[in-house]
Amino acid sequence: MMGTSGAGRYAPSPSGDLHIGNLRTALLAWCFARATGRRFLMRIEDLDRARDAGAATRQLEDLSRIGIDWDGEAVLQSTLGADHDAAIERLRAAGLVYECTCTRADILAAPTAPHAPPGAYPGTCRNRSDADRARERERIAPRRPALRLRVPGETGAPEFSDRMMGRVAGDIDDFVLRRGDGTVAYNLAVVVDDASMGVDQIVRGDDLASSTPRQIVLQRLLELPSPPAVEYAHAPLVLGPTGARLAKRDGAVTLSDLRADGITAADVRSALAQSLHLAAPGERVTADALVERFDPDAVPRTPWTWPGPEKLVTS
Ligand code: GLU
Repeated sequence: MMGTSGAGRYAPSPSGDLHIGNLRTALLAWCFARATGRRFLMRIEDLDRARDAGAATRQLEDLSRIGIDWDGEAVLQSTLGADHDAAIERLRAAGLVYECTCTRADILAAPTAPHAPPGAYPGTCRNRSDADRARERERIAPRRPALRLRVPGETGAPEFSDRMMGRVAGDIDDFVLRRGDGTVAYNLAVVVDDASMGVDQIVRGDDLASSTPRQIVLQRLLELPSPPAVEYAHAPLVLGPTGARLAKRDGAVTLSDLRADGITAADVRSALAQSLHLAAPGERVTADALVERFDPDAVPRTPWTWPGPEKLVTS
């Protein structure tokens, strides 16, 4: 095991209890970090207004129950606002930020550039004059403009090498840095916070792989560490019985639901370990044993279908 000064992390949004898919990604991130001698950090991504006050506490309890530990206290992203503001200010000073008054409907209705990814921002507000911008602000009041990144023309489609997915590339548009309601956008916050926390290994669900090129552009513009100094691994999501991404509507999918069915956190750890090819069916494993056995190359590259509580082999 190589010791490094870097860190891995798990960064849940406290919107409710973690389900089996979230727990599996967290366990994988923890194994990746611990097996490479990294610290493991926890960050609660609580920037959205709609949050459930007790959810963060319950999420941390559930992570501990399946055997995940972390270094230091969990960090609340909402306490890091000064860093987010400073990063936006820095981009603004470099001429890389503009106000956008478009609604979602405006964006959908606008003609898009050929080859632009679906839903890409068409650039409506990119080149407004000062006078035009002032008129726009007035027009939408009391709504306020969002702030978008003026992605420099030479940026192209940033590519990175993912530990699970191989080469990933993605076109990027002028994405939002701060919403009209003042909330900092996920892409900005995640980049700033991972850098300030010393995170150099990012393991998360592959639904976020398409956001990573945007994040890499921000890392470069803000002169923060980026690949290959930062390693990415995007893991396939867990599927529910209908073949769609596992969701709360798929029945008993959280530790507390499963406990009511007589399934313990240790049973869940064993099922997740088996799904990651780190344990035999029904085998009891400690969290430490998972770190010892961990082999990133052996982690399945295809989604795992949650078998449901009835089919779990329990002790
Ligand atoms: N907070 C995000 C989520 O729960 C994850 C962010 C990340 O890992 O970059 O989906």
